This record gives sequence, structure tokens and C-alpha cells, in this order.
Amino acid sequence: MALKMSSSSSVSGNYARRRLNAERGTPKQCWCDEPSELFTSASVTNPGRLYYCCAKEYRKRHLLKWADECLVEEVEDIKPVIRGMNEDISELRLNVSRLEKKIEVMKKADMRKGDECMRNVVVCGVGMAILCYYYFFI
Ligand SMILES: [Zn+2]
Repeated sequence: MALKMSSSSSVSGNYARRRLNAERGTPKQCWCDEPSELFTSASVTNPGRLYYCCAKEYRKRHLLKWADECLVEEVEDIKPVIRGMNEDISELRLNVSRLEKKIEVMKKADMRKGDECMRNVVVCGVGMAILCYYYFFI
């Protein structure tokens, strides 16, 4: 993999200004409050290279940022977000399986309670039947 970093020389004049702007990722606005637009470079050093620039004054080389640099920054900024989301997802998965186990235990306990209840009803019924038997027939 060979990455060529050849942008610094032609941008250096705007570098300090760009740093002042200091917005990471794709700039939505120029530092002069004009919206930014995507243009294609026609320079000898960077032919065809895309850049974001002031929509109004791009002819005065109001250069904001190379589009590829914007994208690199956006990807780098989004990496920790994605990592965090992955961690959240695995934590949520753990929580779900823990809850599933709890529900299973509760279901079993409930069934046991139901059985006990049925046994009580049967015992009660039998007791009542015996009582009635004695009351009416003896
Ligand atoms: Zn501007």
C-alpha cells in the first residue's frame, strides 16, 4: 500500500487560516460565513483533485480543504464511534441473555407455584368431601 502525501506544498499558504477554521471533516461553511462547495482542482500540482471551497470567492483561491483530507478525518473520527457502538451491542447482548435466563427461572418458579396451588386445591377438595361425607352420612 503506497500513500503519497503530496498536498502540503500547494496548500501551505492557506494552512494557518485553515487551522484557524479547525473544523474536522467536511466543512459546511467557509470562515467568511459563505457556504462551502465542492470544486475540482485544475492546478498543475493537483489536477482533478476535489476540494471544498468558499462558494462565493473560490476564484480568489479561498481554499478551505481537500475533499480527500475531509474524508480521512471523517473516517478517523467515526472509528471510535463505531468501536463504542460495537461495545454497546455486545453489552446489550450480554444483558439480553442474562434477562432471558432470569425469565426462564421465573417461568419455572411460576410453574412450581401453579403445581403447589393445584395440590392445595385438591387437598382442600378431598378434605371438604371427607367432611361432607361425615356430616351427611354419619
Ligand atoms: Zn469564504
